[in-house]
Amino acid sequence: MNISGHTKVYGVIGNPIEHSFSPFIHNMLAEETGIDMVYTTFHVKEGQLENAVKGLDGLNIQGINVTVPYKLDIMNHMDEVAPMAKNIGAMNTVVRKDDKLVGYNTDAIGLKMSLDKIDVDLKGQSILIIGAGGAARAVAVMCAEAGAKLIAITNRTLEKAEELAEVISDKYDVETVALPLELVKDGEGLLNESLTIAFQTTSVGMSPNVADSPVGGSTFFKNLDVAVDLIYNPGETKFLRNAKESGAKTINGLGMLYYQAVRAFELWNDMTVSDAINEKCYNAFIRKMSPETI
Ligand code: NAP
Repeated sequence: MNISGHTKVYGVIGNPIEHSFSPFIHNMLAEETGIDMVYTTFHVKEGQLENAVKGLDGLNIQGINVTVPYKLDIMNHMDEVAPMAKNIGAMNTVVRKDDKLVGYNTDAIGLKMSLDKIDVDLKGQSILIIGAGGAARAVAVMCAEAGAKLIAITNRTLEKAEELAEVISDKYDVETVALPLELVKDGEGLLNESLTIAFQTTSVGMSPNVADSPVGGSTFFKNLDVAVDLIYNPGETKFLRNAKESGAKTINGLGMLYYQAVRAFELWNDMTVSDAINEKCYNAFIRKMSPETI
């Protein structure tokens, strides 16, 4: 990396932020694409979000990613918010365009890009989402935008699943249903037979609680073709292990993590990262992450 007076500055804001993998991905993409930019972390302490946003203009910072706990609050500081981010109700990328701040959500599109790479098509599919938090909402919007036929949402707190199901069916032309987790858990729910793709979006099974899974035994997985877990640490959760044993194609959260960065990089630089660069960078990212995800 050759940093000069011309080098454009990007970064990610959050609190805490030191653990972020984004600098690794973005600086590698910059190196591979030959774009003269550098990407770092900005620790934005409680109460400092407004000052941080003002600082973008003040310091001529070209764009930022936004992570926990600012993904919702930051929307109040944008001149414009892209429709998909509005529907998700959270954003993770700020683009400075003609002195305007525009907010995007690249988490959902990043997950879609990672599924496209392995030929998982959501169009016309009946999909189960386990969980109803922020990540579930991004997944639900992504599935609706991709043309899913039915989205079933199950959650420990049923009211949150009902709320999310209603938000999605209000905004998109897709059938939605909320199901009690107890009913879905062991595959006893009548709907399970037609649900062939499942997204696990809860934090259950994340390291160090690797023996946990939000759903039960083999009956749940019987009809599943594709199982996606947003967790990437461990690389194979109990949920994914059970799904694999039942013959489903399994995908962890690393692809989403990588491609949300790629999409932000593309928005900032008004370009598309080539398949060859993505393959090289994704493999390097996986190698970097291996100690954390085994
Ligand atoms: P969140 O908004 O706090 O939602 C957490 C969800 O997990 C809720 O549905 C919650 O159910 C459920 N949950 C928590 N503990 C549970 C338990 N013991 N049993 C059953 N359900 C439980 O969090 P989030 O932002 O959606 O993140 C969720 C997961 O997605 C995390 O593991 C995060 O690392 C992962 N994620 C990955 C990526 C990626 O790039 N790969 C991106 C975003 C998030 P209740 O509503 O009942 O509390």
